[in-house]
Amino acid sequence: MVFRIVSFSILISSLFSVLCFGTVIFDAGHGSPDGGASGNYGSLEKDITLKLALSAQEIAVFLGIPTRLTRDSDESIYSQDAQTIRQKKVSDLRNRLLIAEATSQPVFVSIHTNAAADRISGLQVFYAPSESSDQLSLVMTEWFSRYLPKQRIRQPAKAPDHVYLTKHLRCPAIIVEYGFITNPQEEILLSDPTYQFRLAFLSLCGICQYMNEKGA
Ligand SMILES: [Zn+2]
Repeated sequence: MVFRIVSFSILISSLFSVLCFGTVIFDAGHGSPDGGASGNYGSLEKDITLKLALSAQEIAVFLGIPTRLTRDSDESIYSQDAQTIRQKKVSDLRNRLLIAEATSQPVFVSIHTNAAADRISGLQVFYAPSESSDQLSLVMTEWFSRYLPKQRIRQPAKAPDHVYLTKHLRCPAIIVEYGFITNPQEEILLSDPTYQFRLAFLSLCGICQYMNEKGA
């Protein structure tokens, strides 16, 4: 109950600033034919990321926060002229960047699940090389740390230089790896609609707080 009251009061108090500030882009990672990573129980990253993005958008719409999705269906968003798998992947990423560039004052949140050969677990936010992205990653991580088991939260880190979107985006931009789909326990959690809603809600709390502080 306390969680709900505190979260809602921050969200509502942030709302006015948010309306003045910009648009949140929820970028559901991957999309057919690119399934992303997969779990032992058969979950695919592309399906979980889409559900998280749709959940986040639903909450944002309810609160009146302007949002865009880079994809709202199973398909990735490569252009018609892309033929090979590689061309489709490159085109898909470029089109995601173009969406951000065509949006006024965007805040870009790329949604992914992590993968590893062993059973490591944890949620981690990666930020683009800019102060605003770094700040956004810290605020988001604080929200996750506050309401999810501490051992499940990793420290934010700068996205590796070769990551296309965080390398090219000029707006506040983060990649949230919401957990390891390769860890059986986390795969079950990530596939659970209640947990998905919780992750989406906490993400919005973080975004609202960031926007509120930015707009202040
Ligand atoms: Zn991914």
